[in-house]
Amino acid sequence: MSLLDLLFPPRCGGCGAYGAAWCAACAGTLRPPAVSTLAGIPLLAAGRFDGRLQQAIHSYKYRPRPQLASVLAPPLARAIATAGVSLSALTFVPLHPRRQRERGFNQAQRLAAQLAGALGIPLVSGLTRVRATPAQVGLSQAERRANLAGAFQWTASQPPGDRLGLVDDVCTTGATLTAAAEAVAEAGGSIGAFLVLAVAQTLPAVAVT
Ligand SMILES: [Zn+2]
Repeated sequence: MSLLDLLFPPRCGGCGAYGAAWCAACAGTLRPPAVSTLAGIPLLAAGRFDGRLQQAIHSYKYRPRPQLASVLAPPLARAIATAGVSLSALTFVPLHPRRQRERGFNQAQRLAAQLAGALGIPLVSGLTRVRATPAQVGLSQAERRANLAGAFQWTASQPPGDRLGLVDDVCTTGATLTAAAEAVAEAGGSIGAFLVLAVAQTLPAVAVT
């Protein structure tokens, strides 16, 4: 523990208790959902988007507390290891540059960097949000898909590889992840798994082999 921690003890992102950025009690509430599938691609999560995890993600993005990425990534890394999916590298859902300026960081990128370190695979950048999209809240799945059509492009000079893990913080309807995966496919790559901290709804389960 550093002197700074003694003077300003960290508070839990989930419950606000002093002592740790993600306390053992909150960690104990995580129930990784069964691996599900989205557009034929496995979707892995550390937990459901409710309770302590929802609070921690809210703290991470909106207070904001970017350093929470280091405590939120390990449970997702464990879910990936348990599922046994093999990934060549990770990439992440981009924010529109204006949104990223407002927030000061991209929550998916921070998380992906921590995960890549934990998994020992590279992190590659390449997806760009080429069009600002209106807020998704309150839209149906079909409306979200229409809203996001053409929103992403792979703009790196290197093509995306195969079996990339695509990282985002939350999967609500899956429209964002699906649109980003389509942009990777259009550039000649493929997504091996979607990786999110939390899923907000139940998607069809799939057996991963
Ligand atoms: Zn806590």
